[in-house]
Amino acid sequence: MSVDTAATVAERFRELYGSEPEGVWAAPGRVNLIGEHTDYNDGFVMPFALPHTAVAAVARRDDGVLRLHSEDVRGGVVELRVDDLAPETDRAWTAYPAGVVWALRNAGHAVGGADVHLASTVPAGAGLSSSAALEVVVALALNDLYELGLKGWQLARLCQRAENVYVGAPVGIMDQTASACCEAGHALFLDTRDLSQRQIPFDLAAEGMRLLVVDTQVKHSHSEGEYGKRRAGCEKGAALLGVDALRDIPYGELDAALARIGDDEEVRRLVRHVVTEDQRVERVVGLLESGETRAIGPVLTEGHASLRDDFRVSCRELDLVVDTALTAGALGARMTGGGFGGSAIVLAEAGDVEGITKAVEDAFAAAGLTAPRVFEAVPAAGARRLS
Ligand code: ADP
Ligand code: MG
Repeated sequence: MSVDTAATVAERFRELYGSEPEGVWAAPGRVNLIGEHTDYNDGFVMPFALPHTAVAAVARRDDGVLRLHSEDVRGGVVELRVDDLAPETDRAWTAYPAGVVWALRNAGHAVGGADVHLASTVPAGAGLSSSAALEVVVALALNDLYELGLKGWQLARLCQRAENVYVGAPVGIMDQTASACCEAGHALFLDTRDLSQRQIPFDLAAEGMRLLVVDTQVKHSHSEGEYGKRRAGCEKGAALLGVDALRDIPYGELDAALARIGDDEEVRRLVRHVVTEDQRVERVVGLLESGETRAIGPVLTEGHASLRDDFRVSCRELDLVVDTALTAGALGARMTGGGFGGSAIVLAEAGDVEGITKAVEDAFAAAGLTAPRVFEAVPAAGARRLS
């Protein structure tokens, strides 16, 4: 994110509010390399930050008023009072930043009013976590300005609470932690149970590879209900097996666990996905740490098959990206994010990128689908102050 962007966002703040911002902050969207639908099972994930960020210019106010504006939404400045903020009262975009203010205050932090102007390059609803970027950038700004001294993982927890309770979306902890804690040139190996983390060097360009993000530009409308059903099914599996979360089933005990579940085929499939997916994250970490980067390709592809066949959250468009990319020579490919649309990732040799991109675009055209948006993802920095 360039200094230009910070200057532009600060200038717009001055136009809107007629005063100086106290600073400008940025928080990125993310791509999840591996570890899907594991974060609400206390399991492992491995996201990295995108160069796409939400940027916020912010100034404190001493009158308890919260003013919010987004460059990317029509409707002008929205004015709220911090004392009036209450969960699930706001269905608009403002619920994300207002929810953060509510979560901070609800946790006892001395946060008052603020003027906030936001602009984001994270595509919304593409499975790249535009919502977490919005939350984290506001949380970081308020943390700095109100001198709360909270660490990245603590801000992530509060942002998750904002989204769970204030917005009313039952999301896990991955997106907010990724946005708050990722580092450039690294993927974040995160244990979502205790938020312990390890930065894993992930520099594909140095090894002649690329990672493509293919945004299918579709979002199937049943996704929220289906997400809730998968979560409920995972909880049922954990209860049947007598564990706190599916993360507590070691990979080596998977067959015995499946046998104990009996004939509930739906729960068996969900359990099998979560337990094998946690193991895939550990395999990818092991391969990256021993320098066998190309060997992660087949693990990513296995992950896709598991999400498609066992967890059943893929869709025609995501399968088309994965199948076409693999046929065109990709090292591995998988859907990323919650599923039912959104984005897929493709790992490829640098020299194959053009051919794969064209093959995917042609396949979408031939199927009569909206052209996907394809871009290269280089692991970028996590949330930070720009000026
Ligand atoms: P994702 O996080 O995968 O992009 P979500 O549905 O979780 O998708 O979050 C998308 C929502 O976040 C949007 O509908 C909007 O309310 C909010 N949002 C994202 N980016 C912006 C933005 N630049 N300005 C205002 N609201 C935004
Ligand atoms: Mg989101």
